[in-house]
Amino acid sequence: MQMNDKIYLDYSATTPIDPRVLDKMMPYFQEIFGNPSSIHIYGQRAETAVEEARKSISDTLHCSLNEIIFTSCGTESDNLAIRGVAFAERARRGADHILISPVEHHAVLNTASQLVSNFGFKLEYLPVDKYGMVQPDDVLQRIKPETALVSIIYANNEIGTINPITEIGEICQKAQIPFHTDAVQAGTYLGLNVNKLNVDLMSLGGHKFYGPKGVGALYIREGVEVLSTQTGGSQEAGLRAGTQNVPYIVGMAEALQIAQEARKSASESMIELRDLIIDNVLEKIPGSHLTGHPKLRLPNHASFVFDSIDGNLLLSMLDIRGYSCSSGSACKTGNPEPSEVLLSMGLDDKLALGSLRVSLGRWTTADQIECFLDTLINTIIKMRSSI
Ligand SMILES: *Cc1c(COP(=O)(O)O)cnc(C)c1O
Repeated sequence: MQMNDKIYLDYSATTPIDPRVLDKMMPYFQEIFGNPSSIHIYGQRAETAVEEARKSISDTLHCSLNEIIFTSCGTESDNLAIRGVAFAERARRGADHILISPVEHHAVLNTASQLVSNFGFKLEYLPVDKYGMVQPDDVLQRIKPETALVSIIYANNEIGTINPITEIGEICQKAQIPFHTDAVQAGTYLGLNVNKLNVDLMSLGGHKFYGPKGVGALYIREGVEVLSTQTGGSQEAGLRAGTQNVPYIVGMAEALQIAQEARKSASESMIELRDLIIDNVLEKIPGSHLTGHPKLRLPNHASFVFDSIDGNLLLSMLDIRGYSCSSGSACKTGNPEPSEVLLSMGLDDKLALGSLRVSLGRWTTADQIECFLDTLINTIIKMRSSI
């Protein structure tokens, strides 16, 4: 699964495809290549594959078939949810207020800010606590009749914190305001039952749970109005025009099913390794701080900031030594802007520039973590001594 001499510790950025998933996808590139919209047997067989994938995902989410829309990625799902609901709710009842957290993925943040800069919507950011968590009470205080939608990330890609989605969802349901969650990081380890979560819309992306890149899904609760943002044919109930990517959709469904069946045991083993990292770093590296919640966080996710450390330099030095980590988001480094997520939690600019995210996965071993910890500790000592 991995390059021989390299250790991948960036599973929050993306995951390798599960071999069982790849096997399941292969026939749909050549044998069963039809267009799902075609009437003939080629089309029928492709359509069957897409509908079986839809059935499998809807079983996992505890929703009905027509509530799942296939998209080209997690980003597109977020875009369709935010933009589609904002436009529909403004048309329906004049609602122009969007309520989101400051710790959203850029797919949500930049979509919401474009609605403000180009389309006249008003955007309000919820506060977060020092762990980057949204408090349901703050949603209750800020939600209003003019709110077009609320969007809160389920599990944060940068700091791992898991938000109280069920409680926030209950508040939105009572207020009858559509509630979207970006669950792109949640597929491998967290429950996705939309009725337990009280969500109206939920975004997923295949490559974060050992499925293919370039495919996503959006759950839309029956009755929630969404304006299509990609127009054309009548695919996906007219909400997302374009010929479906059959092999990728098949792969995503298979990957989600495998991941969700294994999620409890996978979580347990990840938590053990994660806490090994967190405990050792905090104990052995002076001036190290955990970012995100100590317990209510993704089982495979450890993230830190270090005093007097340039995070980008740390990443390059770890990379040279064979460890592929991240500073938080997978967005290309090179711009030394501190992360808005870390700033919103109250960190100062300088500390926020010294961030490191270590995210584990199915092929991470305790041995690798022990070696990684030695390297990390030595690298930081070396960097600090050469200032
Ligand atoms: C990766 C990610 C996305 C974007 O998904 P893509 O499929 O890469 O477009 C959105 N939100 C979160 C939380 C993510 O981690």
